[in-house]
Amino acid sequence: MRKPYIAGNWKMHKTRVEARDDAADLVQQVKGVDHRVMIAPAFTSLGVVAEVVKGSNVILGAQNMAAAEEGAHTGEISPLMLKECGVETVILGHSERRHVYGETDQLINTKVKLALQHGFEVILCIGETLEEREAEQAEAVVKEQLSAGLLDVKSDQLEKVVIAYEPVWAIGTGKTATPEDADAIHKVVRDEVENLYDHKAAEQMIIQYGGSVKPKNIASLMDKENIDGALVGGASLKTETFVPIVKFK
Ligand code: PEP
Repeated sequence: MRKPYIAGNWKMHKTRVEARDDAADLVQQVKGVDHRVMIAPAFTSLGVVAEVVKGSNVILGAQNMAAAEEGAHTGEISPLMLKECGVETVILGHSERRHVYGETDQLINTKVKLALQHGFEVILCIGETLEEREAEQAEAVVKEQLSAGLLDVKSDQLEKVVIAYEPVWAIGTGKTATPEDADAIHKVVRDEVENLYDHKAAEQMIIQYGGSVKPKNIASLMDKENIDGALVGGASLKTETFVPIVKFK
């Protein structure tokens, strides 16, 4: 049985004070929720949010991580630094990292392996652009991003891997894939996990959907067989919208 997993990506929003207060509010409101809940604030807020979520059922995540432990990497953040802040999960390969900052599958794979080596859970984001979807390449693109992102990841490391299918055209645009379309790609992803590993790995893999998830569409998405959770951007910024998503049923 796969446990639902709802994650909030706060991107480059909120000062430290805002992040601390909003995290405290969230912790209060999701007390007792049985499934997994994560928030990924900006790096500068990790320390204050870590204090607030300590001992709660809210997991602390980071939005990115460098592909190295230390060195001349101006502007980057090391796994050691994230660990020291109390981070448990890292989001890697987000479409903004891929398409705005030019991260390649190869770089993302290096980060995935390094994060797993340091004991983090990884949320590996994959998803096609609008042009790729219109050219009927969505399936091929997600399969390629999945196999490249997981290259040399061993099957005994997979329990720390979550996949987020986020069609780029649905992120921050208000356009959501229909539950049927999203589920169809999630099935492709699950089948590809089986192809790369085995049936058990595929059955156990948590696959989140991301792309304009809102309180009004979460239930129909979560109803689908292959959708196990959500990675939420805009609607995670306010507890009024994030909490109903977390408590989708
Ligand atoms: C995201 O950034 O991962 C995301 C899905 O954003 P939004 O929910 O705003 O589309």
